[in-house]
Amino acid sequence: MKIAIMGAMREEIDPILATVGEYTRTEHAGTVFYECVYGGHELVIAYSKIGKVFSAITATVMIERFGAQKLLFSGVAGGISEELKIGDLVMASALCQHDVDIVAFGHPYGFIPEGSLMIDTDEILRSLASEVAIDMGIDLYEGIIATGDQFVASSERKSWIQQTFNADALEMEGASVACVCQNFDIPFFVLRAISDTADGGASEDFDAFLKTSAAVSATFILEMVKRLEN
Ligand code: SAH
Repeated sequence: MKIAIMGAMREEIDPILATVGEYTRTEHAGTVFYECVYGGHELVIAYSKIGKVFSAITATVMIERFGAQKLLFSGVAGGISEELKIGDLVMASALCQHDVDIVAFGHPYGFIPEGSLMIDTDEILRSLASEVAIDMGIDLYEGIIATGDQFVASSERKSWIQQTFNADALEMEGASVACVCQNFDIPFFVLRAISDTADGGASEDFDAFLKTSAAVSATFILEMVKRLEN
């Protein structure tokens, strides 16, 4: 089975590339795609650049051009839930776009006509992740992840997102990748390690913890790949 692993930033896929061994490199649509065999699977790996548009392009190319049959996202996020501390892992149960606003027409925040407010991740991949977490002795949090083209570094915006979407973490790519996978009918999974808590100190924390948190997420994703059945 061909599996896509994507991140948004170079730092999010570097630990993956460092582990998988030999790979080939193909440039397409402004992005570099790395291909290799790992854990008995063909992998295509890429970082998209930040935000919903770039991540949607990369996910689409991985599916349409590289033939990915499942997609796993690995990266970092701002924590909303009090339970989530820097370095903790959260897997998305569902994702939404917190910056979609056509409420002037009576739609709820996050809703686009003919789309869905929340997109669920694949249940089989989530249960595989739960098994991996138990075996690795890791606490894996499950919750709603809210996505938007905005680095959130304010308590006000963070609590608005929490109250409006019941979100536990936030980032800038998950829901757009979810939207692509839903439309192409590709099972997908979004994992994030917390890099900051999306409030006043978020940018300093992000800079300090990006690499270590990205590595926590990458290690977990590769363990999932090894256990995926063909
Ligand atoms: N320091 C970078 C920008 C990082 S943007 C630069 O200058 O180029 C933050 C990235 O990490 C995004 O890919 C997003 O998905 C994730 N992220 C982590 N914390 C976040 C937060 N508080 N708000 C939004 N996205 C966050």
